[in-house]
Amino acid sequence: MSVTTRFAPSPTGLLHVGNARTALVAWLHARHAGGRYLLRIDDTDAERSTGAFAAAIEADLAWLGIDWDEQAHQSARTDRYHAAIDRLRGDGRLYPCYETAEELALKRRSALQAGRPPVYDRAALGLDAAGRARFEEQGRRPHWRFKLEHADITWEDLIRGPVRFRGADLSDPVVIREDGRPLYHLCSVVDDIEFTISHVVRGEDHVANTAAHVQMFQALGAPPPAFAHLPLLVDVDGRPLSKRLSSLSLQAMRDAEGLEPEALSSLLGRLGTSRPIEPLVDTGTLVEGFDFSQFGRAAPRFDLEELRRLNARVLHALPFDTAAPRLALTGLPNADPPFWDAVRANLERLGDASDWWQIARGSVAPVAAAEDAGYLAEAAAALPPEPWGAETWSDWIGQLKAASGRKGKSLFQPLRRALTGRDAGPELHALLPMIGRDRAVARLSGRTA
Ligand code: GLU
Repeated sequence: MSVTTRFAPSPTGLLHVGNARTALVAWLHARHAGGRYLLRIDDTDAERSTGAFAAAIEADLAWLGIDWDEQAHQSARTDRYHAAIDRLRGDGRLYPCYETAEELALKRRSALQAGRPPVYDRAALGLDAAGRARFEEQGRRPHWRFKLEHADITWEDLIRGPVRFRGADLSDPVVIREDGRPLYHLCSVVDDIEFTISHVVRGEDHVANTAAHVQMFQALGAPPPAFAHLPLLVDVDGRPLSKRLSSLSLQAMRDAEGLEPEALSSLLGRLGTSRPIEPLVDTGTLVEGFDFSQFGRAAPRFDLEELRRLNARVLHALPFDTAAPRLALTGLPNADPPFWDAVRANLERLGDASDWWQIARGSVAPVAAAEDAGYLAEAAAALPPEPWGAETWSDWIGQLKAASGRKGKSLFQPLRRALTGRDAGPELHALLPMIGRDRAVARLSGRTA
């Protein structure tokens, strides 16, 4: 079977980590299977959808390393939805309803109060021509529902296993609004058919929708695709992540948190699976090992602290070629492989590299303790002339050790503080050649350089 998956965001807000996980999992499956990936922009809600959000979603996906083979906008496919509407209407599967939103809310409340599930009571099914005409005379326009068959609906979910719904437990979904515009359920099913989607991956908040969709696929003469419903992410306290929490948007991860996309894909690609979460600088590793059977049913915890730690580990493993353009964006266009190799193990965020660039190539105010002044002067005097070679560092240290009788921390720590202004950091032998003799001598002599 050829595999086509899709990610179908509504451009009514920014992508957050939960959406990104759905997008990534669908993409991993498509790439693993050598299939296709569709980005479908669900922009039928003209009031809330914006081009700016759609553009931001595309940028966020690209940043995360997700590419797509095809893109569709639902707003441009209205004729396709109307063709399906005509077919369903002709087959008697759609019926007009005149309840207002308030009336429906009231029905829901009284059902709940009476201990019944809040399922639409199909009152409108009983309307005859005269009844409809009365509503029309009041100026009401109908919305239309899809009439579900009251049979069992079952599928083998790739994550949840066997799923069963009773048709009678579901409300007939509204598929056309009062203004004649088609709604999500119908548009989604029509698109999944016409783009030959083989696997629908989405959050488990859609499970009941899927039950209704299964009957719509059947009513439109198409076999339903396979479904994989991902459990929704929760926070560290086990509470649902609020979708609109802007601090969990991909933009915030990138800009405010300064995290690398590989950290996010490493986390989101493995969260809630039986595989370990580890820093993967190449999404190819995730693609290769992808399998729906590794996903569990429990709600995975999204922990920003865990992501930050993973980000550091990603940086430590990030090759220079990948890091270079990002370093340029942070104002370090001249960063070179020796610099990157020297500092990356000390970074928590890529932005931290600027501090080390300043130390390696800029100027530093020394913070030497007075009691080390003599030792540091000795060290400055012993620094061999440039050019320096592979042995320079060990020759220099060997000489200092012999002359001062110091060893270990008392040998190195004063040098580190004087040369870098810090107590910890990259290996001094890697930094020293970047600092160079002139500035090293000045810093060891207590001058800013
Ligand atoms: N636009 C829908 C959403 O964002 C798509 C759901 C789906 O069918 O995958 O929830």
